[in-house]
Amino acid sequence: MSLLGGGILKGMAVTLRNFVGSYFDRDRLTTNDYAWRAGDSLPQHAGEYPKEEGEQLRDTTTVNNYSRNFPMLLHDEGEPMDSIRCVACQICERECPPQCIYIEKSEDKKERGGNKAQFYPAKFDIDVSVCMSCQICVEVCPFDAIVMNSQFELSTPDRFGGLLLRRDDLLKSNGYYHKIHPEEAAARDQRMAEEKAAKEAKKKAAAEAAKKKAEENAKAEAEAGNEKQEDPQ
Ligand code: SF4
Ligand code: SF4
Repeated sequence: MSLLGGGILKGMAVTLRNFVGSYFDRDRLTTNDYAWRAGDSLPQHAGEYPKEEGEQLRDTTTVNNYSRNFPMLLHDEGEPMDSIRCVACQICERECPPQCIYIEKSEDKKERGGNKAQFYPAKFDIDVSVCMSCQICVEVCPFDAIVMNSQFELSTPDRFGGLLLRRDDLLKSNGYYHKIHPEEAAARDQRMAEEKAAKEAKKKAAAEAAKKKAEENAKAEAEAGNEKQEDPQ
């Protein structure tokens, strides 16, 4: 007859053996990446920990096309602040459920990528200790300026400042986005290109209609003038 709860006790004994053994035998650590030096209260840079962003991207066991972590801000080709997509409209800040986005709109406007001058975020912070990775900010952004990153090694001994990501930490290129989420980035680029083409076609059609109307008005005025000359009474 087996002891009631015997399985639990057996499991706890294995855990205890590994816990105590991990202080003496590195192979008993749950992962070799999370090794730390004896005497330090927090994990320090040891072995492969922490991974740099480039290493994280190559770690296909953790980062794949479908992984999502915290948001990042996109910029197009060139200098990040010359091509940042965010116009500081603050919609994401208002919609973020745990209110972990903080934006300060610039006082001046900047021209970006040949488009008309727009405001930009003078400050854009995300507190990732609060962010719940819901992606609502991504869904509501009208400018395709914020998407999810896959970077997963963000642990830091600095609980507050270390987890407050600033605008310049959040800025990533569209090329980087293509690297981590190729399908999503390609679909987004295609949709943006289609929307841009439709907008330009609409603008062109409106300009042609206005030109045609002006020509018709001028013709009608000229005809009315001729009629007046033929019939002075
Ligand atoms: S992912 Fe969700 S919680 Fe995180 S910043 Fe965006 S809206 Fe806020
Ligand atoms: S990320 Fe998008 S929604 Fe948020 S402030 Fe910038 S443009 Fe607006």
